[in-house]
Amino acid sequence: MTRETQNTSAALVSLKSVNKHFGQLHVLRDINLEVAHGEVVVVIGPSGSGKSTLCRAINRLETIDDGEISIDGARLPEEGAQLAKLRSDVGMVFQSFNLFAHKTILENVTLGPIKVRKVKPEQARKDAMDLLEHVGVANQADKFPAQLSGGQQQRVAIARALAMKPKVMLFDEPTSALDPEMINEVLDTMVGLAKEGMTMIVVTHEMGFARKAANRVVFMAEGQIVETADPETFFTSPSSDRAKDFLSKIL
Ligand code: ADP
Ligand code: MG
Repeated sequence: MTRETQNTSAALVSLKSVNKHFGQLHVLRDINLEVAHGEVVVVIGPSGSGKSTLCRAINRLETIDDGEISIDGARLPEEGAQLAKLRSDVGMVFQSFNLFAHKTILENVTLGPIKVRKVKPEQARKDAMDLLEHVGVANQADKFPAQLSGGQQQRVAIARALAMKPKVMLFDEPTSALDPEMINEVLDTMVGLAKEGMTMIVVTHEMGFARKAANRVVFMAEGQIVETADPETFFTSPSSDRAKDFLSKIL
């Protein structure tokens, strides 16, 4: 079997026996998770259970103590050029929009491709306008982030991540800082992305999104994956007491 065929059949994202401590706190406990090409996995769980740390470890914004994380068959290296390349395979959208405040919307989206992917500026602007069109904010291209609503800014953040042509997109509570009336425009953009076949790991408590777009729900508590199920099963009849308890508080 060639390396290429191996990679297409293997998981796109693979975590094997991943452990991480913050001092005494064992924040990720023996995490095993495989996400297939095109799969959408929703990660849900109480505050402090390690969801953000998990995302940050996959993007190598956090180191891990032991275990192994691979993206498309390539193990995350410690550092160096190889890490920059692998990291560009992983797009990330955070709770806070994290746009560059002093750059226009268009510049926010073109900066990475020009600087990191060495795309020619003219091509980068063309691609960026297509992406901004796709997320419905092309008419805001020349404005600055502060002139946009939270929902618009978060859609720009999604376009900016997509401009790097990632293989997988991580979303860490992308709607929890938004006013309620703006949540759906962001979730709809994400549902669209899922339908187009993007591989996604999404930390969210938005059950509607999970039901519409997720192939699997992973429930975390105290640094462990406690339960994995399809969304319908998870939300209607979770098997663990911790998941039942958690759902009784958020539903
Ligand atoms: P979640 O996203 O599920 O709310 P986090 O991954 O943010 O959980 O945090 C898990 C635990 O790790 C929490 O107890 C948090 O206080 C702790 N933690 C997160 N980041 C750090 C850090 N940089 N240093 C020390 N403790 C941290
Ligand atoms: Mg978090």
